[in-house]
Amino acid sequence: MPLTPFDEALEVILETVDRTPEPEPVGLAVALNRYVAHAVLAPCAVPPADNSAMDGYAVSSTDVPGLLPVSQRIPAGQLPGTLMPGMAARIFTGAEIPPGADAIIPQEEAEATETSVRLPSVTVGQHIRRRGDDIQPGDCLASRGQCLRPQDVGLLASVGIDTVSVYRPLRVAILTTGDELREPGEGELEPGQIFNSNRFVLAHQVQALGFEVTESHHLPDVPVEIAAALRRAAANADCIVTAGGVSVGEEDHVRGEIEKQGSLSLWRLAIKPGKPLAFGEVQGTPIFGLPGNPVSAWITFALVARPWLVKRQGGILPAVPRFPVQARFTVARPGSRQEFLRVRLVGQGLAMGAELTGSQSSGVLTSLGEADGLALLPAGATVTPGDRVEVIPLSALWQPGFG
Ligand code: AMP
Ligand code: MG
Repeated sequence: MPLTPFDEALEVILETVDRTPEPEPVGLAVALNRYVAHAVLAPCAVPPADNSAMDGYAVSSTDVPGLLPVSQRIPAGQLPGTLMPGMAARIFTGAEIPPGADAIIPQEEAEATETSVRLPSVTVGQHIRRRGDDIQPGDCLASRGQCLRPQDVGLLASVGIDTVSVYRPLRVAILTTGDELREPGEGELEPGQIFNSNRFVLAHQVQALGFEVTESHHLPDVPVEIAAALRRAAANADCIVTAGGVSVGEEDHVRGEIEKQGSLSLWRLAIKPGKPLAFGEVQGTPIFGLPGNPVSAWITFALVARPWLVKRQGGILPAVPRFPVQARFTVARPGSRQEFLRVRLVGQGLAMGAELTGSQSSGVLTSLGEADGLALLPAGATVTPGDRVEVIPLSALWQPGFG
């Protein structure tokens, strides 16, 4: 198969999504990063009644300026009595406005004596938070497909809702491969070995987006073992993500086993890093065969598997933000693939620049750790310092809420 351009590959892959998981009700305490299955409308107004935005005095605007007797004290949570003409009420932030009052005077502007208070003039309505200012009954508080953030959960709580209908989290199986890999904690490396980082990175990428990891196993480069693991994972997961073994080496068995146990619909993208990415299905379960190099695995998960998973989860896919900054680096030789360069942002505002964080080799995880974003370099492009380059913030590639 020839290399597929990135945009084309993503389109083809996203088109394969044909369903969402079942909805289920969950309590707000566990609703973070869950994807809304049914839009939520406000059952009531917020605030539920006019209330004071300040600690101070409630007055009728026609009675001030002047020296007024203080007739009542209204802390938040207590029902006020009617304010009689010519009187002021001591009031605190969040307390309901007494009938008869139409303005609040902050206590800093008042001169209180034992039983009365000298107050300046006011504008009608000042420092009053009106009923329904924030939310009106019937307002949409959460849309279908929205991934719930702390502030979104707060909105639901603010109207007294305690459960929300969300999609059952996707079940994702993670399989890493390679005879050279050793699990952290399993003792020192023997010659030729390296530690398995992808298994942890991918599990956290999956979980950070609100999905469930059904298993995360490591496999040797043994075709029968890979085949068995793929079949087992396919039976228990909505999607399989593997790392390694999809390149062209003789010990790369994952792609071959995808073809034997299912089918391959796409292999090799015109991107750097991440070229060997494979996509297909095993016994009807979609599978992303990511390259084994840690940066390639991270980037292909973030750019390709993540949007698919979000869509399959029932999530809406807002565009990943990109913003132009000044290049503070040089790319002298044009490449044949679209590149994603690890960059650090320096400077502020219009003078903001992007500098490379270090080696752009696909095995170098430190330069990804130090990156604020990925600079996009179209195929065939060169860069000289001062050129405008587009940068995707890294946070948009692992946190929920972006396409
Ligand atoms: P592969 O795609 O299997 O050819 O692997 C490409 C490179 O990534 C090799 O240098 C592997 O040793 C390395 N690699 C593969 N899997 C992992 C992993 N799980 N953790 C860290 N490095 C890996
Ligand atoms: Mg390998």
